Amino acid sequence: MSAGLRSKDPILDPYRFDPKTNTKLRNWFLKEKRDLPFRKNRTPYSTWVSEIMLQQTRVAAMLPLYEKFMQRFPTPEELANAEEEEVLRYWQGLGYYSRAKNLHLGVKKLVHEFGGKFPKTLEEVLSLPGVGPYTARAILSISYNLPFAVLDGNAKRVLSRLVLFQESGSKADPKLQKIADSFLNTEFPGDHNEAVMELGARVCIPKPLCNECPLQIDCEANKAGLQESIPPIEKKKKEIPLNIRFYLLHTENGFLLLRYPERRFFKTIYSLPFGFEGKNPYESDPVLDWDLKANDL
Ligand code: SF4
Repeated sequence: MSAGLRSKDPILDPYRFDPKTNTKLRNWFLKEKRDLPFRKNRTPYSTWVSEIMLQQTRVAAMLPLYEKFMQRFPTPEELANAEEEEVLRYWQGLGYYSRAKNLHLGVKKLVHEFGGKFPKTLEEVLSLPGVGPYTARAILSISYNLPFAVLDGNAKRVLSRLVLFQESGSKADPKLQKIADSFLNTEFPGDHNEAVMELGARVCIPKPLCNECPLQIDCEANKAGLQESIPPIEKKKKEIPLNIRFYLLHTENGFLLLRYPERRFFKTIYSLPFGFEGKNPYESDPVLDWDLKANDL
């Protein structure tokens, strides 16, 4: 690559990476990769569980829970047959329980509709609950060595810097996916994807350690001295301060708690009814519009 490629639109005109860059990256990965339990004996199921756990959770925090989870649910069938309550118990400590619920639903579908055998097409994999484009591509490339390039936060940072791509935010994602596709090592897609993400997690971090990077001489951002300003930081969304007042409505038998999905907040849990004070951009709970009298309750 040369600095002349900087203004390219990767959709109209894909980047052409030097295959030697891929080889350097893979060699670095094979030598430096962390010895993580989920990297041993990778089945689509174990990759699926580890990828879901790693969303919003750091590796060090997820490892002990991953091992316990896999001991209790070593196969898709064991997980599919478990009660949700038990699955959630084994998820304790990871938070974001909707991930566990969706994983459970997805594995049930895998067992009941695909005979427990993980499908090999992107379309079928994306039909599994809780499996988005990143997870689908990660499983297919890492466990089946199929040529799908992944794009997580680490990969986006590495790729943007490698080609000096100066856009960020969700609108940039289709272009970044094109860059990732062009960079993919189609002979070893699983190693390649893990290598890109590992480089982003350990070397090409927000304040990058370029002197330790195997791709330093290939990196356009490094050549331009712009590595720390790429990807550009997205403007923060404007914050809207809200004052919420909760209401205690009760009879001698207990308090009124509400839960309904149309609410702006607290959609999935029971809470006291509430309304907003001051500038009021949101609706109050409709129960507060009832003409309530003390004796009604
Ligand atoms: S040289 Fe620096 S900025 Fe470029 S990929 Fe390596 S760590 Fe990232």
